[in-house]
Amino acid sequence: MVREQFKALTRLVPVLYCVVIIVTLILVGTFHRAAPLILVVICPLAVLFVVATRLVYWIRARSRLDEMSQAEIEQQMKLVGIIGPALSLAFTIMGLVLLQYGNQSEQVLAIISIWIIAAASGLCLYVLPWASIMVVIAAAIPTVLGLMLTGHGIISHLAPVFAVISGLIVFLLLEMHKTFARIVSSRLDLDISRTEAEAAREAATLLANTDPLTGLANRRVFDARIARYGKLHDGRPEAFLLMMLDLDGFKPINDAHGHQIGDAMLRQVANRLAASVGERGIVARMGGDEFAVLADGKFSNTEALALAGQLRKVFEAPFAHDSISAMLDVSIGIAAYEGHGDPSRLIEHADTALYHAKTSSRGTTAFFTGDLERKAMYRAEVEQGLREGIGKHAFDMHYQPIVDTGSGKITGFEALARWTHPTLGVVPPGVFIPIAEQLGLMEQLTEVLLRKAAAEAARWPQDLHLSFNLSADQLIRPSAGLRILGILAEAGLSPRRFEAEVTETAIMRDIDKARETLDNLRAAGVLIALDDFGTGYSSFGHLRDLSIDKLKIDKTFIDDICGDIRAANIVSGIVMMSNSINMTCTAEGIENAEQLELVTSMGCEGAQGYLIARPMSAEAALQMISASRAVTKAA
Ligand code: C2E
Ligand code: CA
Ligand code: CA
Repeated sequence: MVREQFKALTRLVPVLYCVVIIVTLILVGTFHRAAPLILVVICPLAVLFVVATRLVYWIRARSRLDEMSQAEIEQQMKLVGIIGPALSLAFTIMGLVLLQYGNQSEQVLAIISIWIIAAASGLCLYVLPWASIMVVIAAAIPTVLGLMLTGHGIISHLAPVFAVISGLIVFLLLEMHKTFARIVSSRLDLDISRTEAEAAREAATLLANTDPLTGLANRRVFDARIARYGKLHDGRPEAFLLMMLDLDGFKPINDAHGHQIGDAMLRQVANRLAASVGERGIVARMGGDEFAVLADGKFSNTEALALAGQLRKVFEAPFAHDSISAMLDVSIGIAAYEGHGDPSRLIEHADTALYHAKTSSRGTTAFFTGDLERKAMYRAEVEQGLREGIGKHAFDMHYQPIVDTGSGKITGFEALARWTHPTLGVVPPGVFIPIAEQLGLMEQLTEVLLRKAAAEAARWPQDLHLSFNLSADQLIRPSAGLRILGILAEAGLSPRRFEAEVTETAIMRDIDKARETLDNLRAAGVLIALDDFGTGYSSFGHLRDLSIDKLKIDKTFIDDICGDIRAANIVSGIVMMSNSINMTCTAEGIENAEQLELVTSMGCEGAQGYLIARPMSAEAALQMISASRAVTKAA
């Protein structure tokens, strides 16, 4: 309110002073011959001096209103309350004294001058009610008294008129001030509600744009910023770099120590990343344990890698909270926008690079490349095809014979999944099985595949067994064993003719659950074969604990067996060891006679590979069985 009053005064007081100057000059001009020097030179000069000084002050005050302190303003207002009435009184006395020196019309002019000054002062100071009333009173009382004392007929009659008009002016001033106060107070109310609304809007924007846990920008802001780059033609950076970060090792901490510790670790990661990036870019939390960094500008591959390296350094020191200290690692996917193409696809590209970094090995950095994009597109099509294909039974089984090395007779077939995608063509199982696992589709897929294979194997002679690959997913699923046995029963295939192939990597995903599944299967008579032996953990302890019946020696050892003495010794060692603990061995990937001869001489019981036969259709397998039986009979 005080500031508003002062602001109004900065506009009105200069006007008042201008009026005072003009009226003073008129009075001096009128009375300069008749009145004494003190009245027409010294007093007016004193008045003009005070007025001019104050005028300069008020004009200056107007331009520096915002810088003025509350104390200064209040002090100036007090000064107005003193100087105003004092000047009014001084001017009135000067006017009244001058009355003695003029003729009648000059006297009227002096009275009008007093009147003008009194009215102008009152009006111009109306925002300060007491000051304005005081200036009117300071003019009215001496004037009324002075006029009465003159004894001039007409002039003394003006005294009551002056008194009434002065009273009226005071009344008017009070009314004007009330209106002023009302306007100011409603404007202040309006200002307050506007400020409150703005603060609420700011708080809402902040809430919508920041991640509440870490205080970093959230995914919304990040996506919006990149989308804006996509829409902007002018004003978007020529080039920018996007990095997607995914923590490695966060989930176990969260699971083991609870969300509170997990949250504290995430906050530390956020703080360290933000400090490391500094002014060079923005860091956002994209959700969970995923972060992103956006840096404007052109980065060479080396510079981008250097930045990634710097972010990696953040993870070199352990993250500690309460008494818990943990090491975390990070995988980083980098995508750079270099002025062409669609910038809004950068998030997708950086995600693709991140995915590649994570799947190739944990804690690595990968750049987005056209090749990765093709891979990502291929993968996306495989994913889509898998989802659609399972319901339509688009999968088929092929069968590769396993022979007894001693007799050369077929002992069984390994069932191998086959899938021909409508547009991609043949997709190898080494590609679609891991993707189906990641998508959680393996249980469904296995049911489809196992039903087919078991139904087919049920048509084979009783002495032939079916080898079937079980993925990690199935091994650790509760009651997986019973489910498999159920399918075998439906197909009419005895569990004794069924061989489950499992890898050590799959078992190690959850050894206790895997053991339960394998025990259930074994109890029903199923044989357990350890697949790809030599490529995984190859722990002999597991062989004993898990009661494995058979080892399948991985193709990579067989490949080198003829040329590399070490590979040959390893295979020979594996065979001897397995025989000593009552396990049999099958050599995978036999491609030539020399290999077959060598593994046979080492005592390896089974052999499988392109030399014997490639995986074949169910009909071809049946034909092969009958052909081999015919040969045996003929013999
Ligand atoms: P695996 O279980 O080690 O299967 C043997 C793989 O080696 C098969 O590849 C087979 O075709 C190939 N192979 C056999 N002999 C030779 C040879 O002499 N030379 C060469 N170069 N390769 C040979 P395939 O059919 O591509 O299967 C690859 C992998 O996919 C399998 O490896 C297995 O891990 C997985 N897989 C296949 N079918 C299924 C299935 O129904 N379920 C599960 N869970 N996994 C499956
Ligand atoms: Ca296998
Ligand atoms: Ca294998």
